[in-house]
Amino acid sequence: MDMALTADDRDVRERARAFARGFLHPHEEELDENNGLPDATEAAIRQGVLDHGLNAINHAREVGGQQMTVVQQCLVNEEVGNATNALWSRVWQPPICLRDGTPEQIETYLAPACRGEISVSFCTSEPAAGSDAGGVKTSARLDGNRYVIDGEKCFASSAEYADVNLLTTVVDGDPAKPTLFLVDKGTEGFNVRRLPRFAQRSGHGHPELDIVDMRVPATQMLGEIGQGFELTKDWFVEARLGIAARSIGMAVRASELALGWSREREQFGRAIIGFQAVEFMLAEMAADIMAGKSMLYRTAQEIDSGLDRKTAHAKASAAKYFCSEAGFRVVDKAVQIFGGRGVMCENPVERLTRDVRLERIWEGTSEIQKVVIGGQIKKRGLDMYTGWD
Ligand SMILES: Cc1cc2nc3c(=O)[nH]c(=O)nc-3n(C[C@H](O)[C@H](O)[C@H](O)COP(=O)(O)OP(=O)(O)OC[C@H]3O[C@@H](n4cnc5c(N)ncnc54)[C@H](O)[C@@H]3O)c2cc1C
Repeated sequence: MDMALTADDRDVRERARAFARGFLHPHEEELDENNGLPDATEAAIRQGVLDHGLNAINHAREVGGQQMTVVQQCLVNEEVGNATNALWSRVWQPPICLRDGTPEQIETYLAPACRGEISVSFCTSEPAAGSDAGGVKTSARLDGNRYVIDGEKCFASSAEYADVNLLTTVVDGDPAKPTLFLVDKGTEGFNVRRLPRFAQRSGHGHPELDIVDMRVPATQMLGEIGQGFELTKDWFVEARLGIAARSIGMAVRASELALGWSREREQFGRAIIGFQAVEFMLAEMAADIMAGKSMLYRTAQEIDSGLDRKTAHAKASAAKYFCSEAGFRVVDKAVQIFGGRGVMCENPVERLTRDVRLERIWEGTSEIQKVVIGGQIKKRGLDMYTGWD
């Protein structure tokens, strides 16, 4: 079994690391203080993404993406994911389901999104449909050659400014017909009701939306009627592995900072790393990271080697579950090692605490990942998780 990185993989990792250190880390405190960055800084970061070849790492070259392997995508997400307050989101990865669009949709939306000329948000969650994504009520009804859409959404990251919103609906209010629509910015009836404040200060919101008598041409449907969840399955695999990778990236950064501090900080006449309580925390952190990384990259490599979609989905859930929980444990211990300095906002570990907490919630909470894993075990046995061929 060879799980070593290739020269290409290492090059990708180095580029992502250089970009994170050069273009994201220097702006972390400014972003935290102001909940936003000046336009010129955002433009420089965008150019940095292009110059480092990190745009649309998840899409094919023919549409303007970098066509990275899943392993390479994880390496990038690990490196940029350690930048606090979701600065990683500046490294755009247009939702994978856009590749299932018509040639016109690919030209109008996917290709410019890969170039970073337009941004995309994904609006699925609703006040009564969070973990239960099948409970979406936003309804689309055909009227002539347009669909009339009504409903409400919440937690729709960046929807207040995105150029196009991928909206999950049910046609005719029928739960058996989940269907996606591409909704252009400024479409009448797409209303931001409220922009609640969240723990992260990313400069982007997660608005609540009222969708009232919104009319979109039938040609704005992505895929077919009833294909909505099918199309989002690949997105779930991608998003869950991305979260797992970011969680590991945050854990690595937090543990490196904590190790440095434990060597420097003296109490009772010696460096605190000399206390076994501190040494053991570092040991637990290292073991958690090693376990999470092994799981993540093994899953990624299996997907690159052609793992079937169902198994990929099931394993991505386990990776998301374990890595986000492990990331949280590690970052929390890093805070503990810093003592009072660990809860100062100027310390990256404090900001990482806010970021890593979220990873256990979105794209399916830890409990929902366990529902997925448990369901697979009941149907197919343990081998997928415990076997090793
Ligand atoms: C900052 C942020 C950004 C987000 N961005 C987006 C976005 O861009 N687009 C989008 O569509 N959504 C987005 N979300 C929504 C996110 O995916 C949901 O918050 C998440 O899926 C959980 O749904 P919920 O918050 O409604 O919690 P609920 O579903 O209400 O869950 C509450 C609790 O009940 C538990 N629970 C629920 N059902 C079960 C069950 N069957 N078994 C065991 N336990 C259960 C959950 O695990 C949780 O602990 C975002 C959320 C946040 C916080």
